[in-house]
Amino acid sequence: MSFAIFRILPLWTDLFLRRAIGPLALTVALLCISCADEPVKKREPDWSEARKQMVEGLRAYGIKDAGVLQAMASVRRHVYVPAAMRGRCAPYGDHPCPIGHGQTISQPYIVAYMTERMGLKPGERILEIGTGSGYQAAILAEMGMQVFSIEIVPELARHAAAVLKDEGYKDVKVRTGDGYKGWPVHSPFDAVIVTCAPADAPQTLVDQLKDNGRMIVPVGESSQRLVILRKKEGRVVTERDLPVRFVPMVHGDD
Ligand code: SAH
Repeated sequence: MSFAIFRILPLWTDLFLRRAIGPLALTVALLCISCADEPVKKREPDWSEARKQMVEGLRAYGIKDAGVLQAMASVRRHVYVPAAMRGRCAPYGDHPCPIGHGQTISQPYIVAYMTERMGLKPGERILEIGTGSGYQAAILAEMGMQVFSIEIVPELARHAAAVLKDEGYKDVKVRTGDGYKGWPVHSPFDAVIVTCAPADAPQTLVDQLKDNGRMIVPVGESSQRLVILRKKEGRVVTERDLPVRFVPMVHGDD
């Protein structure tokens, strides 16, 4: 009898393992997979409502250009703010946000305003000085422009280029370099948008504008103003515009 018990005991153990522990282990494993999934889902909130409100705010502040508003409604601003900084600053709030290296992504209103003031048409060639996060470049690309963007901080240029690529913008060329030199091989440009502040509008950039080309640049040091330059038959007409606050346009080493 006891011999028989010893013979069937391994059979029961085997059955127990297969029938009870097996499914239990499977359930635990599945639970763990869904546990591991949970924080990932929580970390990626739905930003579409925040983006809608941002665009409503832009309309309320007087932005009218349908192309600009459509681009601001489509571009996922939060992905241009490096992940480590997103928790510290509401990406769709109407203020700049830190992007590392002492730099910021510009306030949505300023991006919309500067873009609107350039009166852009799809297909135009635009030079941006100060790629930063890549957000302004994305807005231009979303509007159908050919974008050439220069950033002096190599890490920022790399991050922006990677995000722009991930987001599917193929008509954006980003390079590390000193924006004071412009990008002669791709000139002349229909418009130049400078998103850092030099003491004066750089002549090299004015030279790289087409006839009928436009440039918008925050000029000044402790007090700054947006300046709009328009080239017409070799002459440049200058308009002083809003007071603003941008990071300085620094000089490169060479
Ligand atoms: N357009 C950006 C905002 C950029 S902030 C955006 O949408 O996020 C200004 C940027 O200009 C900073 O990243 C700074 O590193 C860069 N910058 C400053 N001086 C420069 C120069 N001489 N050439 C190119 N970029 C410059």
